[in-house]
Amino acid sequence: MSSVSASATVSRDESPVALTRRARKMYRSLHERYPYAHCELDFTTPLELLVATILSAQTTDVGVNKVTPILFAKYRTAADYAGADRVEMETIVQPTGFYRAKTDSLIKLGAALVERFDGEVPPRLKDLVTLPGVGRKTANVVLGNAFDIPGITVDTHFGRLVRRFGWTEEDDPVKVEHEIGRLFMRKDWTMLSHVVIFHGRRTCHAKKPACGACPIARWCPSYGIGETDPVKAAKLLKFELAPK
Ligand code: SF4
Repeated sequence: MSSVSASATVSRDESPVALTRRARKMYRSLHERYPYAHCELDFTTPLELLVATILSAQTTDVGVNKVTPILFAKYRTAADYAGADRVEMETIVQPTGFYRAKTDSLIKLGAALVERFDGEVPPRLKDLVTLPGVGRKTANVVLGNAFDIPGITVDTHFGRLVRRFGWTEEDDPVKVEHEIGRLFMRKDWTMLSHVVIFHGRRTCHAKKPACGACPIARWCPSYGIGETDPVKAAKLLKFELAPK
C-alpha cells in the first residue's frame, strides 16, 4: 500500500475544464484500484436484478444475496410475483427489513409488468420509473447492469463521495446525477458508479475515511477529514483491501 502525504491541490475557483480533468484523473485512479468493481447484487435476469435492487433499500447487498436464491427459485416470472401469497413472500424477504412494504412493492411490480409490459422488464428509464418501488436509482442500476445502457446510480455512498471529491455541491440525487453525468463520457457512467460505490464501501467510509490509504488523496479537497497516517488508515480498509 503506497503512503499518501500529499495534501489536496484543488483551487477554489476551479474552472469547469479543470474540474472535468481532475474528476477524470480520479476516476482513472479509482478504476485502477477497483478494476473488478461490479454490481454486488447477484442476478441472472433483468427481473431478478430489479427485485434485488428493490430489496436492497435500507440494507446491504450481502444481506440481499442471502435471501434472493430462495426468492428467485420460487418466483421466476412477473406473473409469479403478481400472484404471490403475501405472507409466504413476507417470510422470505423478512431478513432484508421493511418486509411488508417490500413485499407489497414486489407484488405490485409483478402486476404492473404483466399488465403494461407483457411481463417483461422494460429497458427504458421513463418506463422503469413508472413501476411500483422503482425510482431513478433502481432504474439506473437495472439499465446499466442488466441492459448495458449507461446509467449513474446515485445511492448514499455515491452522493457522499462526489460531494467530498468536490465534483458537485448538490444534495438532490437527480441534480447530482446530471452534474456528474456532464463530467464523464456516457460510456463510463456505469463503471464510474461501481468504482465510486466500491470506494465508499472500502476506503472512503461515512464516519472514518481512510485518507492515508486513498489513491485519489492528491486530488481530493476533503483529504484530512479521516485518518491520514498510512498505517492506521490501512487498518480501516474493508473487505479485500484490508491488510492480512
Ligand atoms: S478517503 Fe479521504 S482523501 Fe480519499 S476520497 Fe475520501 S475524503 Fe478524499
